[in-house]
Amino acid sequence: MATVTLDTLRKEFDSGRLVAVDDVSLEVADGEFVTVVGPSGCGKSTTLRMIAGLEGPTSGRVLIGGEDVTDVNARHRDVAMVFQNYALYPHKTVRQNMAFGLRMSTDLGSDERNAKVDETAAMMGIEELLDDRPNELSGGQKQRVALGRAIVREPDVFLFDEPLSNLDAKLRTSMRTEIQRLQDELGTTAIYVTHDQEEAMTMGDRLAIMNDGVLQQTGTPTDVYTTPNSEFVGGFVGSPS
Ligand code: ADP
Ligand code: MG
Repeated sequence: MATVTLDTLRKEFDSGRLVAVDDVSLEVADGEFVTVVGPSGCGKSTTLRMIAGLEGPTSGRVLIGGEDVTDVNARHRDVAMVFQNYALYPHKTVRQNMAFGLRMSTDLGSDERNAKVDETAAMMGIEELLDDRPNELSGGQKQRVALGRAIVREPDVFLFDEPLSNLDAKLRTSMRTEIQRLQDELGTTAIYVTHDQEEAMTMGDRLAIMNDGVLQQTGTPTDVYTTPNSEFVGGFVGSPS
């Protein structure tokens, strides 16, 4: 487990004409679940990608477990990211998809890898899918596999980028509950990105509300709802005015 610290993190595109992430500072405690919410284009994915090391910041720092990882390559960061589009390897089976990350991030032998995959698959209720390929799975099953692939690595930090956006409303509700249950059980530090206010209000210990690259407010869902610090935040979370 680990804290995540963003220290005046900034990302400019287009030679500085676009500031996607505008000096964001945020401290996520060990084992905390923080939901980052804001409208489309406000810089949520770019922030996550910088935490994962998939994008380098223009300035500022990312610390994981107190260690400055700003210049550390993505594959040497102990984070696992779950994407909206699942990002499964189409030609690999579910077992191979889940084992691949373990091969990259651990020096376990193949028997040990398989045992870990079996254990995680049982926890996720996907044992029966292990020999299937992604195109044989429903959207909900794919996202379950993508979650399993992240969990099996036992990372220090989970990063979720709108993982439920492609699922229908009913499945979305049940997967929300499941992600919360997993997080309670595993106690892994998690940063969960969504543009959906309702999802944000029901998930996470703490909300971080972004608009136009700027972190507007952080607080518990109740705090933010009852005491929004700006018209934007109040409007966004639907506070009574
Ligand atoms: P969100 O995830 O909140 O929808 P993003 O982080 O994807 O927002 O994008 C923030 C802003 O940065 C948007 O204006 C987007 O168009 C821009 N952007 C993101 N990635 C790139 C890139 N690789 N090159 C240029 N602009 C980008
Ligand atoms: Mg995004």
